[in-house]
Amino acid sequence: MQTEIIAVGTEILLGQIVDTNTTFVSQQLAELGINVYYQTVVGDNEKRMLEVINTAVKRSDLIILTGGLGPTKDDLTKQVVASYLNKELIEDSDAMKKIVERFKISGRTLTPNNRLQALYIDGSMPLKNATGLAVGDFYRNPKGPNFLLLPGPPNELKPMMLHEAKPLLAKEYNVAQILESRVLRFFGIGESQLATKLSNLIDSQTNPTMATYAKDNEVTLRLTASADTRQKAAKLLDDTENEVMQCVGKYMYGYGDENSLPKVVIEKLKEQNLTITGAESLTGGQFQAAITNIPGASKVFPGGFVTYANEAKVSLLDIPQTIIDTKGVVSEATAIWMAKQAKAKLKTDIGVSFTGVAGPESLEGQPAGTVWIGIAFKDRPVVAYEYRFSRSRKFVQERAVLTAFSIINN
Ligand code: ATP
Ligand code: MG
Repeated sequence: MQTEIIAVGTEILLGQIVDTNTTFVSQQLAELGINVYYQTVVGDNEKRMLEVINTAVKRSDLIILTGGLGPTKDDLTKQVVASYLNKELIEDSDAMKKIVERFKISGRTLTPNNRLQALYIDGSMPLKNATGLAVGDFYRNPKGPNFLLLPGPPNELKPMMLHEAKPLLAKEYNVAQILESRVLRFFGIGESQLATKLSNLIDSQTNPTMATYAKDNEVTLRLTASADTRQKAAKLLDDTENEVMQCVGKYMYGYGDENSLPKVVIEKLKEQNLTITGAESLTGGQFQAAITNIPGASKVFPGGFVTYANEAKVSLLDIPQTIIDTKGVVSEATAIWMAKQAKAKLKTDIGVSFTGVAGPESLEGQPAGTVWIGIAFKDRPVVAYEYRFSRSRKFVQERAVLTAFSIINN
């Protein structure tokens, strides 16, 4: 089994860029135990590309080309390989859909060139491009060496090589190959902030690969390792996770795709045999709804209070009217009283309160987004924390609820 890598790009020959793709692909093939015998660089030139291919087919079983899958005139790789094989180029409908969608979102007009990125060689297997538009290609050649075509931009080549091509090659050439993923979940840090704090790691790291994803007020980081055994993959994930934790460990609260901050907290409370209740003003019951969304919540949650109007705070929670009158309803004192009273009335271990201004209007001279969260925990002194959340009413409410869970979690 002899493999040859051909990096296509005049920029490499001019010394404008360093050919890191060949290095990366070689490393990945070495992990698979596939031997690379030749590495070649050729410019974006049809005649010379064909010369290089003609040489390669005489000595190799697998020919890997990188670069030149893009939409511009100098991107020739697919066309040249297809014409060498005497094959047509056909359109991958999923990739085409993605291209059309991308252009629609950015408001640009689609030119016929852009369609080139969705083409693959007839009879071959198109490879998904998770970070770009050009599909890759694996052609199983009944009459000669197989061809693998990968995009030029390293941020496209790396995930395609790791997640599409490598498993395929492992299968094709009968080598054991295992992909293991681990999802770390964060709260209290934005996606771009997380990416910035981890940028050194993300840039230098190839195995595991790392990808951030933001959703519903949370950020997740997916680590994907490839190795020939589960143990090796787990070790790679452990090592990277340790490095991640050193940078952003204080924001990490759990693992897994299906997890959420409320779920992690409820599970913890269950384990520790603790019960919890809530007294909610601006969140209108969303905290308690988040608790009861978790199966088995009845073990930790007997019930609670939605005290939206001041009268309800007084009549249901017995908060002294004078506290509200003198300190204000959006205040530390009211938050503390609400948490303390809820906990006392339902005899739970923890009482959590929310009072604030969901917006869009201000209240008591306090701007929209002002939120006090009170926490009464067992015999500890009751405390309240003030937050200023921005954006919409919905965001303020959701953020307040998750922030309370994150306080309890820590
Ligand atoms: P695009 O859609 O961006 O045109 P492509 O698949 O056509 O992608 P090229 O046009 O060959 O790829 O290269 C695009 C960019 O990717 C180059 O400008 C360079 O920054 C990077 N690149 C290409 N080949 C390599 C390589 N071998 N090593 C490192 N970076 C590369
Ligand atoms: Mg290009």
